[in-house]
Amino acid sequence: MQLILASPRGFCAGVNRAITTLEQVVAKYPAPIFVYHEIVHNTWVVRHFQERGVRFVNTLEDVPDGACVMYSAHGVSPEIRAQSASKHLRVIDATCPLVAHIHAQARKFAAEGFQIVLIGHAGHDEIVGVMQEAPEVIHVICSKEEAEALVLPDTDKVAYLTQTTLSVEETAEIIAALHQRFPKIQHSKPDCICFATQNRQRAVRELVAQADVALIIGSANSSNSRRLQELAAKKQIPAHLIDGAEDLQTAWFQPDQTVLITAGASAPEAIVQQVVSQLRAQYGATVTEAEICQESLTFKLPEI
Ligand code: SF4
Repeated sequence: MQLILASPRGFCAGVNRAITTLEQVVAKYPAPIFVYHEIVHNTWVVRHFQERGVRFVNTLEDVPDGACVMYSAHGVSPEIRAQSASKHLRVIDATCPLVAHIHAQARKFAAEGFQIVLIGHAGHDEIVGVMQEAPEVIHVICSKEEAEALVLPDTDKVAYLTQTTLSVEETAEIIAALHQRFPKIQHSKPDCICFATQNRQRAVRELVAQADVALIIGSANSSNSRRLQELAAKKQIPAHLIDGAEDLQTAWFQPDQTVLITAGASAPEAIVQQVVSQLRAQYGATVTEAEICQESLTFKLPEI
């Protein structure tokens, strides 16, 4: 068996920033530390912090007045910021700067009188937060069909924004449909699909032809991990999204196959290496690193 390890894979700059910040908060402040929503969408990361006294909450009603609360990498709505202030919470904001940019763009377009088409998955933490910046003018869609059927009160002043973790290919189709429907449509610069999402998808796109099977390491609620799985599956090979080595099934593999391994932006490298170790032990697999491009971006940590 041959293993191709796609690179870049795993933690992105925004996830590294959020996790490093939470590590520092845990070291500095007494438990419990409260985090609004999962710090990143990964089972291992969440469990790691829960074992260290971090409580993940879905409502600020579960946070005592005056306590310390951290916002996750996916960002929060203006209501959550206002509620935090009224409860006198000490806020540590781990919103990824690239998500914060989309919030700022939504506020800007709304202030300029635009209708905003927000391409993304309704209910995802990131979309919920951005939507609340201007709910009266933001319209969430996630398919070409929805773009074609969209009716807006004003078709002259329209802009679109996207979730950071979408499929590059599918989003391009949706955007093309929006341009057909609203020829004057504007958009934010740079693109909202972030560099990390684009790089991980590019690596899978370029490497998948060499593989018989793809393993995507990430959790089921991780948007960018699911897009990697869909991308590999579209290239007609079995693609399995797994949280870790315990999810591997012998029925998926033949001993002489080539397996492409990647990891979503919230999946730790330690889990990737556990999967590699298990396949080495079970099939005598050899490993090749395949670096498609380099990532060097880092983000400054927030004040704690
Ligand atoms: Fe930020 Fe992109 Fe990472 Fe999300 S996937 S945390 S937007 S760098």
